[in-house]
Amino acid sequence: MQLKEIGEFGFIERFKPWFGDLLGSDITGIGDDCAILPMNDEEELVVTTDLLMENIHFLRDAITPNQLGYKSLAVNLSDIAAMGATPIRSFLSIAIPKEIEIEFLDAFMLGYRKISAKYATPLLGGDTTKSAKDLAINVCVIGKCRKGTARRRSMAQAGDIIYVTGNLGDSAAGLGLILNAANKSPDAQYLIDKHHQPEPRINEGQFLATQHAVHAMMDISDGIASDLYHILKASGKSAEINLDLLPHSDAFTKIVGKYNWNASELAVAGGEDYELLFTVDKECSDQLKSDFEKQFGKPLFPIGVIAEGTGIITWQSNGKSISMGKAGFNHFL
Ligand SMILES: [Mg+2]
Repeated sequence: MQLKEIGEFGFIERFKPWFGDLLGSDITGIGDDCAILPMNDEEELVVTTDLLMENIHFLRDAITPNQLGYKSLAVNLSDIAAMGATPIRSFLSIAIPKEIEIEFLDAFMLGYRKISAKYATPLLGGDTTKSAKDLAINVCVIGKCRKGTARRRSMAQAGDIIYVTGNLGDSAAGLGLILNAANKSPDAQYLIDKHHQPEPRINEGQFLATQHAVHAMMDISDGIASDLYHILKASGKSAEINLDLLPHSDAFTKIVGKYNWNASELAVAGGEDYELLFTVDKECSDQLKSDFEKQFGKPLFPIGVIAEGTGIITWQSNGKSISMGKAGFNHFL
């Protein structure tokens, strides 16, 4: 059997049970945005790690080294945000092709430093080694949160309203522009920058974790088709999503119209938006939305509801159910 037959998530499901019996009962292991480890009576640690491979996750000639350094930590901080936790330290390991210019590496590290300073998450260590060809970057971030407040994917309840914290599809449209279009308009640059330099929703995640009405939460790395499915699977629920409610930037709408791209598919299956996807008790939904908007001066977007069921997403547009061709990004297809 080849890996592509079961995909990334099939591979994880195969070995996950081999490690479950090695865990203590007070540790949450594989299966959420972060692992959760006990720390003391008041706090817990959360830990995440992510690997970025040249020519799989980024093109060295398309992204600036400064943006690459920023993004390498940003995508890990996004997983800390997904738990509602506070990042505290990071570790960075890099496999480096020997012809790389030291100026490239300096700019990479300065980008990494910029976001480390922004979220008070100093670099503590890591490893460097040679690579035969491609640049490979692995980051690990440790965060902390008040005991029992980390939001897990398994917490969604039937009737919950499903929210996202911001626009969907910008990053996928940016990637489309990098790969297919020589478009240097300000709209195109906006979308490309969103792809190259995502912003983790750390402050938003921390706020949402203080709200009792917020149940399940995760970050949008693969696209909501795939990411929401993880929440549904972990919670034993289904969901209905209204595609007409998905928030889009003006730049996205203009560029997608110009190239006749499928807006819904980019928004649900494109990935790398790094917004937060979360579910809220419907009785408190309006209050939470208004409190969030007061706190951050930007809107929250309700996009659907959680229902009883077994991991089925029903997509609707103009009052009709529609089928979506591509269900999330699979790294091994
Ligand atoms: Mg995640």
